[in-house]
Amino acid sequence: MVDSIIEKALSGPRALGAGDLAVLVALDDPAEIGKVREAAYGLKCRYSGKVVSMRGIIELGNVCAKDCYYCGIRKSNAKLERYTLSADDIARLAEIDAGQGYASLVLQSGEVEGEAHTRFIEDCLRRIAPLGLGVTLSLGEQEEDVYRRWREAGAERYLLRIETSNPALYARIHPESHSWERRVECLRALRRCGYQVGTGVMSALPGQTPDDLARDIVFFGEIDADMIGMGPYIPHCDTPLGRTAPELPASERLRLGLNMISATRLYLHDVNIASTTALQALAPDGREQGILAGANVMMPNITDTKYRRSYQLYDGKPCLDENALMCRGCLERRLALLGESVGYGRRGDSPHFLARTSAKAPSA
Ligand code: SAH
Ligand code: SF4
Repeated sequence: MVDSIIEKALSGPRALGAGDLAVLVALDDPAEIGKVREAAYGLKCRYSGKVVSMRGIIELGNVCAKDCYYCGIRKSNAKLERYTLSADDIARLAEIDAGQGYASLVLQSGEVEGEAHTRFIEDCLRRIAPLGLGVTLSLGEQEEDVYRRWREAGAERYLLRIETSNPALYARIHPESHSWERRVECLRALRRCGYQVGTGVMSALPGQTPDDLARDIVFFGEIDADMIGMGPYIPHCDTPLGRTAPELPASERLRLGLNMISATRLYLHDVNIASTTALQALAPDGREQGILAGANVMMPNITDTKYRRSYQLYDGKPCLDENALMCRGCLERRLALLGESVGYGRRGDSPHFLARTSAKAPSA
């Protein structure tokens, strides 16, 4: 069964049906998982080589207007000290990122809307533009006009996870005021504004089935995503969802997260897929396993360590005390063990984006 699914997957992008994807997501036989990961890793190497693209991530603030039931920095978590970095701090960290040779940068925060915040981000983007980094924003839902202004100020990529493509499941993990439809509309708006569009989901959510996850992958195709960022859900003790123990043990959640990466690679072929920190929270080498399962991007945290305890989206988020320099050496060594190198000096644009916009070859 798995052999024929792999053969079909390798015949071209989007060759698999939702039923095939559900089989891949639910796999638990080590030999079958091994075959699927090998095929997915082969595709990763075909599109990106034995190279991992790095984007330093700056967690620029933990102020958030939203109250997602799973997230440690949700508005109602009164235990947190809230912070927002200054434009000077962000410019300094962006220089550190460029100095590491990462060539790309992610700016992420809780969701804040309003003119003052829009201007603040514009200002940051204009200040870091001379560094020539590929800049990704992950700042939540915004009006289309705001996305356009940030695009004009120099951001080229945007990450907005749909969290789950199942509206009923979405409604169970968010307050009523949060709209799944608005999130989809935001993804469409980002596309209209010319971004490389990234989305993704959490796996191992309470009540989520392999069919839900298979449909998530089909959703990525329907929205024609260029980049995917996914990871297992990890409880945070100060959240409504985190008060109940996870349904699956850590090893099972890791397996599911890795199966999602492989199935997404086998379905979409040429998108950028991030090997996320949530994988590392479940196993020390979780991110390396993510690369071997078909991911091609990593996002080392370059935020000053003094803020990291205030940006705990989930319990046990790793690398609380390692600064950017320590991360760099550590990642380089870990990847070398896999025969993979760090794509220093390469922006690592999504091959799918370049193909769909018929752009020139990826910038070196
Ligand atoms: N506020 C922005 C970006 C920051 S949150 C937004 O929500 O889009 C970034 C991602 O962290 C979210 O999309 C979510 O998928 C993930 N996340 C939040 N809480 C999590 C948890 N408990 N376990 C795993 N991932 C989580
Ligand atoms: Fe805010 Fe994002 Fe966390 Fe939701 S997931 S509470 S929007 S930071």
